[in-house]
Amino acid sequence: MATFQQLIKPAQPTAKDIKSRRWIYIPYDRYTDRTGPLTEQAPEATGIVIVESTAKGLRRPYHKKKLVVLISNMRHFALEQAAKGVKVLYHFSLTSHGQALLELQQARKLPPLTVMTPAERELRLDLAQAESQGLQLTYAEDTTWASTPKDFLDTYGPYKSGKQYVMDRFYRRMRQKTEVLMANAKPIGGQFSFDAANRNPYKNQVPIPTPPTYPPDAITQEVIDMVEATYGHHFGSIENFDLPCTQADCDAMWRFALEQLLPTFGPYEDAMRDDHLQLFHSKTSVLLNLGRILAMDLIRDVEKASNEGRIPLGSAEGFIRQLLGWREFMRHLHEQTDGYRLLRGHIPDEARQVNQEVSPDQTAEAKQAYAPPKKQADPYAGATPSALGAALPLPAVYWGVKSGLHCMDTVVEQVVQEGWSHHITRLMVLSNLANLCGFSPRELTDWFWFAYVDAYDWVVETNVLGMATYADGGLTATKPYVSGAAYINRMSNYCGHCQYDPKKSLGEGSCPFTSLYWTFLERNEAVLGNNFRMQMPYNTLHKKSPQELVQLRTRAAEAVAHLQSFKRPKY
Ligand code: SF4
Repeated sequence: MATFQQLIKPAQPTAKDIKSRRWIYIPYDRYTDRTGPLTEQAPEATGIVIVESTAKGLRRPYHKKKLVVLISNMRHFALEQAAKGVKVLYHFSLTSHGQALLELQQARKLPPLTVMTPAERELRLDLAQAESQGLQLTYAEDTTWASTPKDFLDTYGPYKSGKQYVMDRFYRRMRQKTEVLMANAKPIGGQFSFDAANRNPYKNQVPIPTPPTYPPDAITQEVIDMVEATYGHHFGSIENFDLPCTQADCDAMWRFALEQLLPTFGPYEDAMRDDHLQLFHSKTSVLLNLGRILAMDLIRDVEKASNEGRIPLGSAEGFIRQLLGWREFMRHLHEQTDGYRLLRGHIPDEARQVNQEVSPDQTAEAKQAYAPPKKQADPYAGATPSALGAALPLPAVYWGVKSGLHCMDTVVEQVVQEGWSHHITRLMVLSNLANLCGFSPRELTDWFWFAYVDAYDWVVETNVLGMATYADGGLTATKPYVSGAAYINRMSNYCGHCQYDPKKSLGEGSCPFTSLYWTFLERNEAVLGNNFRMQMPYNTLHKKSPQELVQLRTRAAEAVAHLQSFKRPKY
């Protein structure tokens, strides 16, 4: 018999256990007994239900390492609970989580199951569908978050179409509420954010600690073999899996980040390197989004280390802003907008041709496309706003086909190997190129969703459709995050190893990012031209001669055609 099934067998409940214990369903993104329903009674009075659903795994071509880290943590969590005296019903199913629970509840005569509200909308929908067919669930508040929906609503009020959401307001409120890095109701250091000081390139100023690895144990190895057999056709490499899968390893990964990475995190958080891919970033988002470690615990650890002088204030604040501010803000925004489905700006089908070519004439059409959403019959269908009318298919380079653009090839190769790259590479390389070329924001969102080990709908639908691509028309960002080669050259060492010259925008060997940048501005002028934060680049654009503009358009069109010329792998 397989290792895991052998080990979990003694934790199977008897009919008496089913009657006498409180039964809790553990969703795949809430593996915790540090908060929520599992803390409310002794292990000897608790039973848990866990579903391993093949239908969910096959729903999109999830990175193989994402499936391994999620399923292996699921199995280890089950065994850890069993070791504490909890009874475990671990159910393998070909159907969805909701359907599997319904069948199990009826077959085993389970009482109504308590569940901490799952973070992923897709799972909430699946459960709701099963409830309509008879599944009995009682929802408990998801207390893994550092904030509540009320915190968000108290800051902005209910969602209203056309309103702008500036994260800083929410972040300040949360700092006040939690009193994190505060003294006498004032921010320590005299300001809430030290973001402006955290923008240095990395040039070997300080050594980078080597992150520990977490080699697979027998349970993880069994999951690796299963993923290879069942999901072998999915995106990404399964070789050298080394992410934490036990609670002890998850805690160790956080301790390493706290003690070794965070003291030098801040100044270099926006830096990019092809020889030090991870720099001072940790991968703790993977574990946070599974519920293995809790945001407020991390925030308090970092605050304490900062107060004791072990982490400089700028680094501590930068990290805390990501957790207490941005992560919580995006989660609420996802819920309030139903994953952006309530947003103005779902691009109608008839307008999907917009931005198929690099042409300034299309801007008016693109603006028209930014219209009220069509009613969507399928509740699982993703929102498709595209304020800039971007609609070109995402090209093969995102699947690991080499493009010759060293920055893209480096970052995508890391994603293929690890299912992860740090936030500035996501924003200023992967999303930047998609914006400049006019690739579909929805396709990019779906790509991030399956390709990254830390991605779930509440993360990607807000971050990619909002901050990364401006598809929401500025709901969360005051301007699109776009740049030519100059920014990438300043913040990385990529350009030094590239066939293209970042200082040339035209002619042989010129970097495509720069011509794409100017044509992006040109074709989106009707939407962005009056944005006060874009005035400087538009002033520069307007000084260019008609002849140079024609040359830039030609170079940009060549670059898009080059990227579109590679065949995309099928999954
Ligand atoms: Fe990327 Fe251009 Fe730099 Fe090459 S020269 S790495 S394509 S920004």
